[in-house]
Amino acid sequence: MPAPILPAPILVVNAGSSSLKFSVYLTCSGAPVRLLDGAVSGLGGAPRFDARAEDGRAIAPWQPPDGERPGHDAVFERLLEWLVGWLDTQPETAAPTRSAAAPPFAAVGHRVVHGGERFAAPTRLDADVVRALEALVPLAPLHQPHNLAPIRRLAARWPSLPQVAAFDTAFHRTIPPVAQLFALPRALTAAGVRRYGFHGLSYAYIARRLRALDPVAAAGRVVVAHLGNGASLCAMCDGRSIDSSMGFTAVDGLMMGTRTGSLDPGVILWLIQEKGYDAAALERLLYKESGLRGVSGIGNDMRTLLASDHPHAAEAIDLFVYRIVREVGALTAVLGGLDALVFTAGIGENAPPIRARVTAGLGWLGARLDAAANQAGALRIAAPDSRVGVWVIPTDEDLMIATDTLELIGPDAARA
Ligand code: AMP
Repeated sequence: MPAPILPAPILVVNAGSSSLKFSVYLTCSGAPVRLLDGAVSGLGGAPRFDARAEDGRAIAPWQPPDGERPGHDAVFERLLEWLVGWLDTQPETAAPTRSAAAPPFAAVGHRVVHGGERFAAPTRLDADVVRALEALVPLAPLHQPHNLAPIRRLAARWPSLPQVAAFDTAFHRTIPPVAQLFALPRALTAAGVRRYGFHGLSYAYIARRLRALDPVAAAGRVVVAHLGNGASLCAMCDGRSIDSSMGFTAVDGLMMGTRTGSLDPGVILWLIQEKGYDAAALERLLYKESGLRGVSGIGNDMRTLLASDHPHAAEAIDLFVYRIVREVGALTAVLGGLDALVFTAGIGENAPPIRARVTAGLGWLGARLDAAANQAGALRIAAPDSRVGVWVIPTDEDLMIATDTLELIGPDAARA
């Protein structure tokens, strides 16, 4: 009996300035199932390559010879070669009849940070869309060019390969116009200086998961706290974003691992006028040297800070929690009340003391934790008498991109 024709896998690419993350999904069951994920870190210097199979087994892929510093494009080409070779050794993905010129993937989904005002949903990429995304580079100069480079290389290598962009901003296109505005002259608003919001793939994933887990909670007034190295909040009503703590860029809002979050703009003027800061020094300060790292003087990893008995570590955590409670209060006012609070991302999923302190700060709303459930990292961590549902839902942005990609190309295309 001939072997069944299995659909080709979907590749997900999340290309940044210093790392390139990737994952491969099988689509046989009609929903994406992860087969492999990995990352090339240290781009721009000596890159390091890591990959894991879905069972957690480390796979030892290509490492550049010591001292070799291949550029982003060379690393991506090498990654593709390695992936094609690896897939051909796997029973689920080996395609002995595929010609060398045919793409080994049914489609590729890309994380693209900025979709501007035009892109409110994942979008199939063609030359026109890529041009429109290139025009948004000035809005996200640190990320957008790196997101777009692999798209161009894949299109050149396999012109027939379907590619999809999934945007960090798209989920927030439902934010009402007044909440998108800054109090700036209209010409600047017209030039695109407005609130976009980020972490949208994470929020879209959480909105779907919450709807599957508890449709009543998902239909209500929800604040999702994405607390990772980057951190933001999203206010959702019936699963749609109506406001976010991040704004024009991903440096706004909450205090983060190394980013300031909201900062009096007068501080920036003072730094320029009195301290001689230029754009590069400001960028370093706002994005790399501040947040938990800057306030603690120790580092940006919450695990280290929670384990430290240094008073500056304690103060950094106090401020981190204080800013979350303050912002959740603001978003609760926007929502007109709060039915559920969801914690996600590295800190939100793994730091019971932070969840406990944030929830205690929301005691005035009637939020109460079940201490044992919180410690265990259970899905539902509210006490029975809590007036607010409290959840811990692990996020999965790559799975969201794979799901979006499969939905856009359709299961039949994946099988073609
Ligand atoms: P992310 O950006 O979502 O990958 O989150 C990364 C951050 O999560 C790290 O910088 C840590 O601060 C934090 N994190 C991960 N595991 C833990 C843990 N067990 N306890 C506290 N924080 C954690």
